[in-house]
Amino acid sequence: MDLDKEVLSGAVEFIEKYIQPREKEIEVEGLFVKDIFKELGYHGFIAIPFPKEYGGLGLSFRLFVDVSRLIAKHSGTISGVIGAHLLSAFSILIGGTEEQKQKSLTKLIKGELIGSLALTEPNAGSDPSSIETEAKKEGDYYILNGTKAFTTNAGLSDIYVIMAKTDRERGARGMSAFIVESTDENFKIGRQESKMALPGLPNASLFLNDVKLYRDRVVGKEGTGFAIVMKTLDIGRVTTGVGALGLSERALEEAVKYSKKRIQFGKPISSFEMIQSYIADMATEIEASKLLVMNAAEKKDQNDPKFSLYASMAKYYASKVAVDVSRLAVQIFGGYGWIEDYIVARLYKEAKMYEIIEGTNEIQKLIISNYILKEVK
Ligand SMILES: Cc1cc2nc3c(=O)[nH]c(=O)nc-3n(C[C@H](O)[C@H](O)[C@H](O)COP(=O)(O)OP(=O)(O)OC[C@H]3O[C@@H](n4cnc5c(N)ncnc54)[C@H](O)[C@@H]3O)c2cc1C
Repeated sequence: MDLDKEVLSGAVEFIEKYIQPREKEIEVEGLFVKDIFKELGYHGFIAIPFPKEYGGLGLSFRLFVDVSRLIAKHSGTISGVIGAHLLSAFSILIGGTEEQKQKSLTKLIKGELIGSLALTEPNAGSDPSSIETEAKKEGDYYILNGTKAFTTNAGLSDIYVIMAKTDRERGARGMSAFIVESTDENFKIGRQESKMALPGLPNASLFLNDVKLYRDRVVGKEGTGFAIVMKTLDIGRVTTGVGALGLSERALEEAVKYSKKRIQFGKPISSFEMIQSYIADMATEIEASKLLVMNAAEKKDQNDPKFSLYASMAKYYASKVAVDVSRLAVQIFGGYGWIEDYIVARLYKEAKMYEIIEGTNEIQKLIISNYILKEVK
């Protein structure tokens, strides 16, 4: 526990030194993102939840999530880069061979390499089993062809864990994960997407046009890709939930500070009961989000068989709350909330992303209701 406190206070110091003073440059201009990520790796923050045998710190996922919450409060961009990176590292930890873990995972954990996970395609989003990217076996090699959409960290990453069909007839068992390196021949990154928010978070398409990979690039065994990506996405749902939670906490903090300073009718607006009612709603919803997110992180640490359910609940609820809370924060700022110079306008736009990524909230509700419908006889 003392070690946890030490790590958390180290994270606060890190944020004060590297993120807070440059918040606007990172969030609005997209600067310093790679440098800060490398520093995070160097200081051991990425390594927190990974096993010691691969250079991790062997600490809890809950602690990592708590650190991520602090980061997300100040930078949705850095939080997003870490979240996407983590997907690549966890997919190799979950399904990779010992050789892949020694070669790539050890470097991803230290932040020496940056990673992405690419599942989504132009015609396959909520239904990942319909991906069209194909990997054809030719002797000891695979030839990959296809397009991936929206990949986070595209252009920044050194390693892309890419899902492809190795056998179209075998459904989910016909999907495999491949490690593609940014320098691989015939692998191209598309233009950076122009988005509603988070301009500094890289998002682009990936193009694979006869990318030839030796068989040691299959993550683990052929045919295990779907199982690997589903387990990895459960973890990603908790980090998405905590991104939304950090944003909500920031929105509340900014709204409360503003409400105490803003004078109307001769009084601070915080003295009006309707504003107090908003603050009470925001604080209560945030507390519930925090409990769900931390609970999901603990379920991961405990290897709970229902971790997937709790991860979906955390992602679904925390992202919904982020939209609600940031909307109320804009309302408390009145007309100034609509002006880009004030942070709440940015937070409101960023919040929407969390309802879409790592499986939309409709998909989270399908996962949750499937569990409940099976459980209650
Ligand atoms: C900022 C950002 C970063 C991303 N990063 C990555 C990444 O790093 N790697 C990656 O692989 N992907 C990434 N994605 C893709 C993301 O995971 C998908 O956008 C998401 O899964 C939804 O897929 P889609 O956009 O194709 O929407 P669609 O699947 O076309 O869905 C459209 C709408 O239909 C609804 N819908 C679909 N099926 C059902 C159903 N059965 N029941 C009810 N409603 C349904 C959806 O909920 C949604 O509202 C990212 C997306 C964004 C916006």
